[in-house]
Amino acid sequence: MEDRSVSAETLAAQALGDADPVSGGLAPVINPSTNYEQQPDGSYRQGRVYTRADNPTSEQAERLLAALEGGGVGGAGGGGCACALFGSGMAAATAVFQSLLPGDHVLVSRVLYWGVRKWLAEFALTWGLDVEFTDTCDLAAVAAAIRPGLTRLIWVETPANPMWDITDLTGLCELGHAAGARVAVDNTVATPVLTRPFEFGADLVVHSATKYLNGHGDVLAGAVLAARRDPFWERIRSWRRNAGAMLGPFEAWLLLRGMRTLFLRVHRASETALAIAAHFDGHPALSAVLYPGLPSHPGHQVAARQMHGGFGGMLSFRLAGGAGDAHAVLGAVRVFKRATSLGGVESLIEHRRGSEGPSSPVPDDLLRLSVGIEPAADLIADLEAALTRKAGSP
Ligand code: PLP
Repeated sequence: MEDRSVSAETLAAQALGDADPVSGGLAPVINPSTNYEQQPDGSYRQGRVYTRADNPTSEQAERLLAALEGGGVGGAGGGGCACALFGSGMAAATAVFQSLLPGDHVLVSRVLYWGVRKWLAEFALTWGLDVEFTDTCDLAAVAAAIRPGLTRLIWVETPANPMWDITDLTGLCELGHAAGARVAVDNTVATPVLTRPFEFGADLVVHSATKYLNGHGDVLAGAVLAARRDPFWERIRSWRRNAGAMLGPFEAWLLLRGMRTLFLRVHRASETALAIAAHFDGHPALSAVLYPGLPSHPGHQVAARQMHGGFGGMLSFRLAGGAGDAHAVLGAVRVFKRATSLGGVESLIEHRRGSEGPSSPVPDDLLRLSVGIEPAADLIADLEAALTRKAGSP
């Protein structure tokens, strides 16, 4: 069992530090078995029956993520905060909504990952949920929107895609708890390296582990963590088991390997994103640089309080020349890769409204940047050149 006296960074680097009890190997083993042998007396050696419910490789990744988010020992059996991996971030997010009951009122931040908004628009009504969008950066607006006794869940993303709005987690949790609502935080962008929402009172933490946690753009995965193993948590676990939303052991192993370098990658991306934001803030070709690390960002003060060691690797540019210039810059970059998603080792750029489609509320002049681990100088030079060199020029 891992040494709880060491830092989260050490736990991540050593994947909890457990050697394989059979071989002594330091690299975790992959356990691909879908089923487990029943003993003559009807029992199972470690209680596992079928891998749609539990898998030892997933459990090791769950224990590590629980240790990073909450200092608890997660996974199947331990105390502390609990963690369950899912086949994608969307599978994780929707498991939380689908564990609510018909008629439940849900408050959701207005700025958030479009996939969650789209799912809520398509399926929440048929599920019987009463979903209301509100500006969670404005606690007075949240207080006015809460319906005591009816609001069961407040769902927030901070920093929120793709404007990087910041929600005050302490204030939000106080409001939610006073009204008997759970608060769920999508912590994909901040990661537990920069923000641990349980410390601010959150009840649930959700991740697209596809992003920073894995960090190499080669695994689709999600996670839900809960501060308490209460009946709502059991519903989420039961949903995963019965809906078959479990992450496979090979993906869990890759995720575990990715998390070993999480701290290095997130710190590096945060430093570089800040350097890029500071460099281009006030650039004549841009009408705005959206990054919570800039003192001019409306959420900077709150971000400085609840994000430790950096402001994350995500930022957006708004082009002074409008959508035409945004597309021209997109076409002119040579180091940044034109692709959706975020949180990988290589830097990405996308026209976010184009990715989200015609119903997107994102301004047409916005480019979203996911900063990777390349040197800042290469990325700044690429953006400088692209802002002056338009697509098709030599
Ligand atoms: N939450 C956030 C903040 C995301 O950016 C994403 C994906 O981009 C998701 C959830 C959904 O995750 P996945 O793509 O792993 O299903």
